[in-house]
Amino acid sequence: MYWKPDDCWSAERPVEAVIFDLDDTIYPQAEWLAGAWCAVAEAAVTYGVDPGRLRRSLHAVAEEGSDRGRVIDRALESLGAGRAPVRPLVAVFRRYRAARLWPFPGAAESLRFLSSRVTIGLVTDGDPDTQRSKLRALRLDHAFDVVVLSDELGVSRRKPHPAPLIQAAATLGVDRAACVYIGDRPAKDVAAAQAARMRSVRVRTGEYMSWPDTPRPWLTARDVPHAVSQIAALLAPRSRATPVPIAAGYRPRSVRPLARAELGFTGRFPSRAAAQL
Ligand SMILES: [Mg+2]
Repeated sequence: MYWKPDDCWSAERPVEAVIFDLDDTIYPQAEWLAGAWCAVAEAAVTYGVDPGRLRRSLHAVAEEGSDRGRVIDRALESLGAGRAPVRPLVAVFRRYRAARLWPFPGAAESLRFLSSRVTIGLVTDGDPDTQRSKLRALRLDHAFDVVVLSDELGVSRRKPHPAPLIQAAATLGVDRAACVYIGDRPAKDVAAAQAARMRSVRVRTGEYMSWPDTPRPWLTARDVPHAVSQIAALLAPRSRATPVPIAAGYRPRSVRPLARAELGFTGRFPSRAAAQL
């Protein structure tokens, strides 16, 4: 065990910053994926692949686990179209941009409530341009005091690596022990928060909603509004919080990746394999 919660924080410590995961925490990622699979299927017509069959196959393969990789390859193979070129279809997937996405019920309202009380941040894995486009489609591109796109720190620092959470807390100027991270995936979000010595709230929404609470979070909630209701009594008034150096606005590209020594993390963190639990 690389971290023992009781060593690091009191559950009753005031919460001065709340940091969120994006996909399947704030909005249903399945809606974005559905649009992306449609775009891929339409593009495959060029290679003689039936778009309806490919779209259904993409959904079926993705339901086995959307982050297992090679979804397009496996979908084509299942249709006997394994000789169709995969690379241009992967490029279509990566270029896909949803025009509009909608948060889970109550999520946007919860962000507005929290923002009136404490500083809020977002830490998300994935292609940075794609993740930014999701925020725009959700109309949340100005909702956060800080946005950390972990791939900009290096793909190897995706959650459960603690670096992006440490970066977010450092940019907000809030002690990590006074931060709470809210996310849907225990093996990524809860594990990253533990490694960063933050409290975590696991929300049971999205693709992984039925997965067990392993590792165990500080709290479990049905969704973001429920999570916020559980921590509301601990929110520290903004006037009591540490001054926030970037209070002037959200500037995701202005975030300077911290050097390894500045991250102050010397312990072990869960392996990529652990994230596949
Ligand atoms: Mg997520």
